[in-house]
Amino acid sequence: MNQRSTLKVNGAGHLEIGGCDAVELAARFGTPLYVFDEDYIRLMMRTYRLALDKYYGGNGMVLYASKAFSCKAIYAVANSENIGVDVVSGGELYTALSAGFPAEKIYMHGNNKTPEELEFAVKSGVGVIVIDSYLEADRLDELCGRAGVKQNVLIRINPGVEAHTHAYVQTATPDSKFGFSIANGTAEEITRHVLAKSNLNLQGFHCHIGSQIFEKQSFALAADKMIDFIGTIKERTSFEAQTLNIGGGFGIYYTDEDPKLTPADYDEYVKILCGRIEERCVEYGLKKPFIAMEPGRSIVGEAGVTLYTAGAVKEIPGIKTYVAVDGGMFDNPRYALYQSKYTVVAAGKMNAPCTQKVTIAGKCCESGDIIAVDVPLPEVKSGDVLAVLSTGAYNYSMASNYNRNFIPSAVLVRDGDAQTIIKKQTYEDIVRNDVLPERLIK
Ligand SMILES: *Cc1c(COP(=O)(O)O)cnc(C)c1O
Repeated sequence: MNQRSTLKVNGAGHLEIGGCDAVELAARFGTPLYVFDEDYIRLMMRTYRLALDKYYGGNGMVLYASKAFSCKAIYAVANSENIGVDVVSGGELYTALSAGFPAEKIYMHGNNKTPEELEFAVKSGVGVIVIDSYLEADRLDELCGRAGVKQNVLIRINPGVEAHTHAYVQTATPDSKFGFSIANGTAEEITRHVLAKSNLNLQGFHCHIGSQIFEKQSFALAADKMIDFIGTIKERTSFEAQTLNIGGGFGIYYTDEDPKLTPADYDEYVKILCGRIEERCVEYGLKKPFIAMEPGRSIVGEAGVTLYTAGAVKEIPGIKTYVAVDGGMFDNPRYALYQSKYTVVAAGKMNAPCTQKVTIAGKCCESGDIIAVDVPLPEVKSGDVLAVLSTGAYNYSMASNYNRNFIPSAVLVRDGDAQTIIKKQTYEDIVRNDVLPERLIK
């Protein structure tokens, strides 16, 4: 288990998180249940912010990439830790604003923001909009003209850096749907296009090279390409970018196949990045840009645990044993999407030796509805509480009502106190938006 969070085994031999016994949390709030460790989230937000202060004189901003886990509470925590956020949809923007998050500290992303989302962003006064198409540059300029606003913008660039990670979460390969490629000249073209817009104030550039990246040099390489691009653009157009947003993507620990990083390691990522940017700026004779960085997964991922109750145990002799839980791909679709791996523990039997390997299956009508394959566990009986670790990122935010299951509730734990931050859905919620047209009712 990870050393930084409050995850531990208590005197009763149960899993404990944020000073709360996981078996008691399951009994009190019901399962499936997402549990979030507030201290851990704050520790990670602070780690990045302090590293930017230390290595870059604070001339930058940490933006929590809220698509990893978005709800009112997380924006309130980010605000109290004095960092910004990025959002990628009207829904995330609305959630942030509903939590009282200051609009000027919000960056808005998306490769195909709708006209309504752009208008909502501009009218709310979001700090920066990151442009990802000509269509968007034109629409946004026109919209800002009508609204009498001069909007700060960045342009999303594809620096052509391949980070070593799962192909589906790679975003900066030459055929990515995101950004404008430096290599084929479109990045320079869109820059000229945006510079000519009277209602857009181009501050600089953004890139995001992928996710679940451990290779420290990947970020330095992306910084190289971006500073080189900034230098080239300055030479050719005399526009000098004042902001460089380097994206997110720092990896986390899921299973023993991943390194276990400590805050010192994340601090090191920032140090390398800032060092490289500074070096390159000297080389190109550029002013040091304001740096934004957008960690998502590494802030909330290891802070989260999902609790389930084991149901049917199905042994297929000589083949495998399935333990079915009361959740599944509707609360965690990551195995179905990417064959993601997780560590699973029996929350009430933490000191019992693991005697078997089982596959944790969900309750959806879908063979691919699996949470984890071949995980070592002690003997498991129906009614036992199972905990899947490192589920804080891209679980709740990707949850659905598939099979009309409820999206589970979430609690935030700290010092033995557990507070509901997302209520469990009800049957009424399930049918809330359904409409029975007159002619279907006799
Ligand atoms: C997804 C995303 C992030 C966050 O990535 P993590 O791997 O969760 O740190 C940051 N910026 C952008 C633009 C993204 O799309």
